[in-house]
Amino acid sequence: MSFSLELSEEHRDLRDWVHGFAEKVIRPAAAEWDEREETPWPIIQEAAKVGLYGFETVATFWADDTGLSLPIANEELFWGDGGIGMAIFGTTLAVAGIFAAGTPDQMAEWVPQCYGDEDDPKVGAFCSSEPAAGSDVSAMRTRAVYDEAKDEWVLNGQKAWATNGGIANVHVVQAVVDSSLGSRGQAAFIIPPGTKGLEAPGKIKKHGLRASHTADVFLDDVRVPGSCLLGGKDKLDEKLARAREGGKASGQAAMKTFELSRPTVGAQALGIARASYEHALEYAKERETFGRPIIDNQSIAFTLADMRMEIDAARLLVWRAAWMGRNDVPFTAGEGSMSKLKAGRVATWATERAIQILGGNGYTREFPVERLHRDAKIYDIFEGTEQIQQLVVARNISGRHIR
Ligand SMILES: Cc1cc2nc3c(=O)[nH]c(=O)nc-3n(C[C@H](O)[C@H](O)[C@H](O)COP(=O)(O)OP(=O)(O)OC[C@H]3O[C@@H](n4cnc5c(N)ncnc54)[C@H](O)[C@@H]3O)c2cc1C
Repeated sequence: MSFSLELSEEHRDLRDWVHGFAEKVIRPAAAEWDEREETPWPIIQEAAKVGLYGFETVATFWADDTGLSLPIANEELFWGDGGIGMAIFGTTLAVAGIFAAGTPDQMAEWVPQCYGDEDDPKVGAFCSSEPAAGSDVSAMRTRAVYDEAKDEWVLNGQKAWATNGGIANVHVVQAVVDSSLGSRGQAAFIIPPGTKGLEAPGKIKKHGLRASHTADVFLDDVRVPGSCLLGGKDKLDEKLARAREGGKASGQAAMKTFELSRPTVGAQALGIARASYEHALEYAKERETFGRPIIDNQSIAFTLADMRMEIDAARLLVWRAAWMGRNDVPFTAGEGSMSKLKAGRVATWATERAIQILGGNGYTREFPVERLHRDAKIYDIFEGTEQIQQLVVARNISGRHIR
């Protein structure tokens, strides 16, 4: 019988490789792209050139049967910078949507088009949220209607806050196909490049992650071929029939997809938290007040000790959930949600404490912790808010329909 929390040589190599890219390429560019509030295409291209951005890379991460490659790579990438990290990793949201619902043929056709190649990199977008349907996915209004005569789907509606919305080569759009079934009457569609009727004219100005493009996406009589329905018509018809009979399978499948992706998102928050802790530790050793380094005061040193402990604790939850998800161990207590909830809270708290330790400097854009705090806050909000994660855990541990 053996048990180890030590990383394998492959994982250590992966961590060091991504860390090197984050340190040499991402960090030096972070402040500039945050100020510009633009997608850092040259850095995405650089990531594609070294093999960090592209289908093969993500497929290799997914193939790791310990589940740890994705969180390890994400922690290092986002340690480099949250905004650029999301500009590089945001495409994976669309790819995960295709993987979750698509057929092997659809994956082979559309996933490479999400990434493009190193000479002409592209991005993908996953559009689920709507102005009135963020946490409450069952309130979705975007409709997809089947035009049997032409074997086409016609989509109408508005999507909100889509990462890469409008600048993506491929948009994966979630829409209602049977409004009587709530969230179980929904399906996902590929909107191919250049499709008429999809517009995303504005870019949303954000608090943080400003190098990552976020936009509302409008769908006005968007027509796509029948083959763009992810999973195909027969599978959808079967799923809808099951839902009408009151079967539970589809709801559980959607929940499992979220639980699987949450540890990776938690790892991103961890990367930001760790960066703020390291900046604060260094600063506290150098900054002197009253004739001695501020770290010699217990209140500062204890805060740093707590930061380190909380970050390590969150990482253990993230790695546990990633391992459970990859090995089909049931999430009996909502362990995926727990990991993201904890990591998001730790990131928001640790980055705020880092500003406190840097004092006036921490509050300025001359030092990175101000940006880290703005970037961290989103981890309490997207991929399920803090309260939605609590809801998942509370329902799991109580077996009751907590509201
Ligand atoms: C930068 C950014 C990028 C994003 N990227 C994407 C993307 O790529 N694709 C996509 O589809 N979406 C994306 N989103 C949307 C994101 O997933 C939603 O904002 C998020 O799910 C929350 O939904 P909401 O904003 O409508 O908040 P609401 O659902 O309106 O929630 C508001 C508040 O009420 C609380 N609340 C809601 N319901 C309950 C309840 N039952 N019990 C207790 N509290 C509750 C929430 O926790 C929150 O505090 C992105 C958002 C941002 C800001």
